[in-house]
Amino acid sequence: MRYTVPDYYKKFQCLAGFCPATCCAGWQIVIDPKSLARYHKVKGRFGNRIRNSVNWKEETFLQYEKKRCAFLNEENLCDMHIEAGPEMMCATCRKYPRHIEEFENEREITLSMSCPAVAKIILEKQEPVTMRTAEDDRQEEEAGFDFFLYSALQDTREVMLNMLQNRKYPVHLRMAEVLALAHDVQSRIRSGQIFEIETILTRYEKGEMALIRKLCAEKGRVHAEELLCLLDEWEVLDEHWKKDVAVWKQCAQSLHPGNIPENDKEQMVVYYLYTYFCGAVYDGDALAKAKMAIVSTLIWEELCRAEEAQKGEILSFEERVELAYRYSRELEHSDPNLNQMEVQMNTREETSFPRLLGILAARAEVDRNE
Ligand code: SF4
Repeated sequence: MRYTVPDYYKKFQCLAGFCPATCCAGWQIVIDPKSLARYHKVKGRFGNRIRNSVNWKEETFLQYEKKRCAFLNEENLCDMHIEAGPEMMCATCRKYPRHIEEFENEREITLSMSCPAVAKIILEKQEPVTMRTAEDDRQEEEAGFDFFLYSALQDTREVMLNMLQNRKYPVHLRMAEVLALAHDVQSRIRSGQIFEIETILTRYEKGEMALIRKLCAEKGRVHAEELLCLLDEWEVLDEHWKKDVAVWKQCAQSLHPGNIPENDKEQMVVYYLYTYFCGAVYDGDALAKAKMAIVSTLIWEELCRAEEAQKGEILSFEERVELAYRYSRELEHSDPNLNQMEVQMNTREETSFPRLLGILAARAEVDRNE
């Protein structure tokens, strides 16, 4: 089995009681079968508390005011951890903020942007992210796993990450190039010509950027505020988020250009692309995954721009981090929202290939003139 982690993986440290947004509130924590069985057997007063704090039908922890987990105490610490130790916690809590994508003989382990400590690590990183791998002797076979497609997706993602980290070009132009590559790769997946993907990758590696510049001659809108409408169709996890989105949508109409460092955008798009792109091996939809990474970055940029317009001053690093983890929570802590976004990538005019290319081209022009 091969294990891959980003180079910042070991930097993570939980902020515990100092966390500005605990991970023990706002979403349903699903309990794995092994932990449920363990909770049945705990004796004494704490055993009773556990049994009274679980929704046994839904297999989740009960929540109290503001969707706080039944074990989250007033100091924002976990009573289960304090009373019974980390081994008593369920798999979700033990694992978070680690996020694991599973493929045959491969585990890609990332840290979730939805954790404030992680969002800070990712956005403050100035060097391009690299991945570290380790292997052990474990072997597994997954019925029906399309290894041929998986290898092509891995190769494609590697080329995409190289493009995204090529700092010779404005970041929006790099994103446009990734979008165009995803579009070409998708057409080969659709027609079953996976073997042709290698040729496409070579073409892009040799400098497809010139072609993208030509494609980008058709400029779209400088601001991507229309993308905020996608959020209206998502399940709401945090009521404050819903209210804030309504305000941001108003403020995003302003022509305020926004002051978001190129580095933040690169780290953001790399995070989403790396985490989700190879999942296309299970549904064949590589273009939707690439669009999700690009659209997530554009939406976050719009949120930062709108927030700046509202405040009338440039956002601090901490404020950009906050918008990054709040956006990630709404998207990544909800399977319905992840599914909905993928549907939106295929069905909404705002996320069509020409429209996104237009937005990126217009933004790249602004980047160049700044
Ligand atoms: S969100 Fe991150 S920093 Fe905050 S309590 Fe959870 S793991 Fe710790």
